[in-house]
Amino acid sequence: MAENKNNKGNRSKQENDCCDFCGARRSDVELLLTSGDHRVNICNNCIAEAYRMLVMGGVIRDGRQERGGAYVDKAPRSMEDLLKPVQIKEFLDQYVIGQDVAKRYISVAVYNHYKRLICSTHKDENEVEIDKSNILLVGPTGTGKTLIAKTIARLLNVPFTIVDATVLTEAGYVGEDVESILTRLLQVADYNVEAAERGIVFIDEIDKIARKSDNPSITRDVSGEGVQQALLKLLEGTVVNVPPKGGRKHPDQDFIHVNTKNILFICGGAFDGIEKKIAQRLNTRALGYGRTQASGSVDRGNLMQYIMPQDVKSYGLIPELVGRLPVLTYMEPLSRQALRSILTEPRNAIIKQYERLFEMDGVKLSFDEEALDYIVDKAIEFKLGARGLRSICEAVMMDTMFEIPSSGERRFVVTLDYAKRKIEKTNFAALRRVG
Ligand code: ADP
Repeated sequence: MAENKNNKGNRSKQENDCCDFCGARRSDVELLLTSGDHRVNICNNCIAEAYRMLVMGGVIRDGRQERGGAYVDKAPRSMEDLLKPVQIKEFLDQYVIGQDVAKRYISVAVYNHYKRLICSTHKDENEVEIDKSNILLVGPTGTGKTLIAKTIARLLNVPFTIVDATVLTEAGYVGEDVESILTRLLQVADYNVEAAERGIVFIDEIDKIARKSDNPSITRDVSGEGVQQALLKLLEGTVVNVPPKGGRKHPDQDFIHVNTKNILFICGGAFDGIEKKIAQRLNTRALGYGRTQASGSVDRGNLMQYIMPQDVKSYGLIPELVGRLPVLTYMEPLSRQALRSILTEPRNAIIKQYERLFEMDGVKLSFDEEALDYIVDKAIEFKLGARGLRSICEAVMMDTMFEIPSSGERRFVVTLDYAKRKIEKTNFAALRRVG
């Protein structure tokens, strides 16, 4: 394709030129490319849309991999560059089963986050400043919190890191300072500060740094409230001096300055027992003056859906931290049906991965439906959840993965009987530990 520049010779024809895909006129777009034979035109908006479709369809996989680790500057500059919430959710749907409410909340939060980025680049004195939309995901372990965060980072091709809140401590104590979060982000961004400043950080197990009682502590709480305090500034947006190699800050060390203003923080936690707090609140409300939820219509089987910031506060997150995580949503426990779908449906489904591994040895692998149902039954029986599906599959597949590459066989079917035999011979106690 070559750019069709205006010249006197065919000026009138070109003035009428328009994009053959969306119909926009040349004068209304920034760029109109013309095919070599001058028959087809495409505008910059349609090129951008096609690119998005290629990324979403997995045709272009990950800019980072293709370009040897460097992050390309794909910061959205205008509204046209942004993926709409529906498109973001469609992408998440390819990888994450169920969790519709959380996926909708996150799609909107990510969309707003990038709108905010656009606003901050076109800064105007009188412009309304949009707050950050950091996210808090509450729900049982192994229901896809990390997976959602990872998938979003993959879609946006931004640096992404996962940190465990339990290893963080207040500055000056044994453990990691909160700044270490940014060291990791810088490392995955190959020390490209600009890329890191638009990255996504997933802070896991945020519930484990809850303070032990609802009252502010009198004694020091190094690993709980102190860490929450230290996280406040980071979440809100500040310039942090980051030790490039991690570890403790040292007076003689050179620091890298990282502005966290545009970093999206997603926090996740199981918040075991938070349903009790929700129930308490719903009961008081039902009896008290603020009766919004007729007690009869409350779905007692799934109280998590009524979660509100005050529940997280009474669980032990300090109000300032809750305030900096304005998007609060929940994850559903995975049903039997969801576990069954997780085995086969996502783009990276476990079963698809085994099929691919066998295909590389020239073997066509397939699973009988009953064998798949059996694997799900075992995950439920051992209370291993989605994470356990993988270990159960490993137990089923181990012998054949060992033997088949040198057996010369071209086909292998996992039957119910085969799966049962393999699981029965496995050490069940070991499987339980994996969960
Ligand atoms: P969490 O962060 O909630 O503890 P993860 O996101 O780490 O859970 O999930 C563990 C694994 O289980 C994932 O890598 C994925 O294979 C699988 N998984 C969990 N939930 C889902 C889901 N909703 N859809 C698809 N896979 C899931």
